[in-house]
Amino acid sequence: LANRKFHPEDTVVTVGKAKIGGGNFGVIAGPCSVESEEQIVEVAKAVKASGASMLRGGAFKPRTSPYAFQGMGTPGLDLLVEARQATGLPIVSEIMAPRYVEIFEEKVDVVQIGARNMQNFELLKEVGKMSKPVLLKRGLSNTYEEWIMSAEYIMAGGNENVILCERGIRTFETYTRNTLDVSAIPAIKQMSHLPVIVDPSHAAGMYWMVEPLAMAAVAAGADGLIIEVHNDPAHAKCDGQQSLTPKKFDDLMGKVGTLVNMMGKT
Ligand code: PEP
Ligand code: MN
Repeated sequence: LANRKFHPEDTVVTVGKAKIGGGNFGVIAGPCSVESEEQIVEVAKAVKASGASMLRGGAFKPRTSPYAFQGMGTPGLDLLVEARQATGLPIVSEIMAPRYVEIFEEKVDVVQIGARNMQNFELLKEVGKMSKPVLLKRGLSNTYEEWIMSAEYIMAGGNENVILCERGIRTFETYTRNTLDVSAIPAIKQMSHLPVIVDPSHAAGMYWMVEPLAMAAVAAGADGLIIEVHNDPAHAKCDGQQSLTPKKFDDLMGKVGTLVNMMGKT
């Protein structure tokens, strides 16, 4: 179902007024995690003003340490719903277990599968039965074939609205948080008709590297970007070091917009 051979035309995933794929470029922006009503609504308004087409925010966070902030849980989803009401932006949030399918179906617009769950096949099967589009991140050390097979799990359940997201992979380099695999964009486009977006924030791990990686992704043909933006990065509960301020995000959107036009996308 995901294979380009049997489906030559690009898939376009539509979420409200936002479209991703087939010449439609979309930017998803927002904090790593939802922290408060004030934070999420302020960031939502700022990224909307800069031209983002969707709002991201984690309510359930997959943290390396069990003692790190785990996210607000269900109340975080309610704050995202408030931010959607305040801005009209569709909301994207990560699901970590099958038991949350019902609440995600009710509250969110796009269901994110994080890198760590790319091969959580039981979760993929459940999400495959949902009516909401899925943002499927590439696993930390997974091949293109494995990634596309995970999309296939979701599509086999009847949910064909899958957006693939390259977010950097594990390599021997430790300077960056991950190594952005730019080759994934043309390679996946050759193999599949699904839209491919890039997360330069988790690839870089440093806010100042987000813009150059974002530009490289657009130049390589990405259908969109997902970028972490926080109104107070120094005090963020998660991933502050890689988060852009609303001002830096606005600058990035100006540059990205020019390049998106040059690539013949809207
Ligand atoms: C995230 O988007 O905040 C996240 C946890 O990303 P990843 O699954 O790519 O690490
Ligand atoms: Mn994050």
